[in-house]
Amino acid sequence: MKNYSGSCHCGAVRFSFRAPEINSAMQCDCSICIRKTAYLTPFKVMQDDMEITAAGDALKTYRFGTMAAQHHFCSTCGIHTFVEPRLSPGTYRVNLGCIGGSDTLHLPVEIFDGKSL
Ligand SMILES: [Zn+2]
Repeated sequence: MKNYSGSCHCGAVRFSFRAPEINSAMQCDCSICIRKTAYLTPFKVMQDDMEITAAGDALKTYRFGTMAAQHHFCSTCGIHTFVEPRLSPGTYRVNLGCIGGSDTLHLPVEIFDGKSL
């Protein structure tokens, strides 16, 4: 397991988590993920392994449809930092672009068929 830390663009939302080595990325093609085109962790981060700190009420959550998935984002800079997937609430897929030092665009990418859910 490794320790990772990350933030939104403006730094109002910060987080750290423990997880295996990140050597691939996941992209989801559901109606919101296709719009933000974020590269996500290929695994889910357990709630107990995730620590989130947010300035004031910077961290907002967008829900739609069944309202089950929680798309968390910074209300100051607009960056989607992580999502709690509909099928596994209480876990997180983290936006790899928010993690310091990650070479996200060079990782092999797996497409998750979210639009069929
Ligand atoms: Zn921000």
